[in-house]
Amino acid sequence: MSEQEKRQFSLSPSAWNRWEACPRQYWLSRQKLPRKTGMAAALGTAVHASIEDLVAVDLTGKEASEAGWLPSEMERVLRARWEEEKVSFHATPRHPDWKEDKFGNARKQQLGGVELLLRHAGAPALHPSVVSVALWRRIQSLVIACEGELRTTDGRLMGRLDLLLADVDGDGKVSGWKVADLKTGRTPDGKLSETVRRQLLLYRDILLSNNTDHPPVSAEGWYTDGPKVYVAEGDSVLEQAYAAWQEMDVTEIPMKPTPGEDTCGGFCDWKAWCPHWWTWRKDSGKLHAGNFADAVVLVENFEPSGAAVIELCEPADEAGRPQPTGVALAAIFEGNAKIALEKLLTDGYQGAVFIGGVMTSGRVWRIGGWCDVLPWSPIADHGDEDLTS
Ligand code: SF4
Repeated sequence: MSEQEKRQFSLSPSAWNRWEACPRQYWLSRQKLPRKTGMAAALGTAVHASIEDLVAVDLTGKEASEAGWLPSEMERVLRARWEEEKVSFHATPRHPDWKEDKFGNARKQQLGGVELLLRHAGAPALHPSVVSVALWRRIQSLVIACEGELRTTDGRLMGRLDLLLADVDGDGKVSGWKVADLKTGRTPDGKLSETVRRQLLLYRDILLSNNTDHPPVSAEGWYTDGPKVYVAEGDSVLEQAYAAWQEMDVTEIPMKPTPGEDTCGGFCDWKAWCPHWWTWRKDSGKLHAGNFADAVVLVENFEPSGAAVIELCEPADEAGRPQPTGVALAAIFEGNAKIALEKLLTDGYQGAVFIGGVMTSGRVWRIGGWCDVLPWSPIADHGDEDLTS
């Protein structure tokens, strides 16, 4: 990376987390490889955007005592954002099948977000149908910023702030600022995960560094699926973040991988370009283990119905050169996975195929709409390598 590009690079919490978990994963995420999305991300974005719309809703001309307007407004903005998300989801190169039935869950999460706003305004547990225009105006008056970008003055650290809210005392005076980050994922058991805690503290600390004159600032994770609030506490993380920024200078040569159960065993969107999850699985005797597995296969027969015969491969070397094992299995490709394989074959691709998250528990491997189906293109430790020869 040139000095100019490095100056332009801003550390975000997600890039920081990725880099801490596995520098190779972070490096791969910066290689302009085909982007991936999923239903959880789409739902989260639609809910966030709908809360943003509700916070900004124009109530001009409405009577202060009017109630009954909020449920229809919630539905209107959520539906509009949902449709918008659907378009962007289908335009993302790697995506699973769209699940329309998740709209009900989006409604529930949006309701959770509204409940948390009501709690902040001192009016908890009110059904949206009884929320008056006056009460919603009060909520709006407590919102200092919504969906804003946070960036240190030197541009090195950044984040996206969901809500910056005012805490007010009994006399109506501002007694503090609250950074509230909406989370539509699973509510934590007990306490915030370290990655979320660090993200919230980073937002708090950027805010403090940009505003010398500020009241006490707190940072909270607002879990809409509870709904439940978790407070992030701890010392400043700015020094750590700047140290990470220095080291996150993307090199030509791929950065160090840290394969293992916590990294490759969880979600990593870049497995089709990384040989290390594969060699780690083989070396630890865990290749194709578990009810859901990743694999590199040769497709030997593929019927229009999606039924196929696949031959399992294993890594021949550290670079992830595929070696057929002679083990052939029946498989069924469904939904988007079937479409992805059809496209690969129509394009004339003949090499090994990476299939991610395959259901292996039955007699026939099920490669459903949630699975990645990609050409196996591992990037070796010293950079690109042609593994077809
Ligand atoms: S597959 Fe594992 S080692 Fe490779 S980038 Fe992902 S997390 Fe890192």
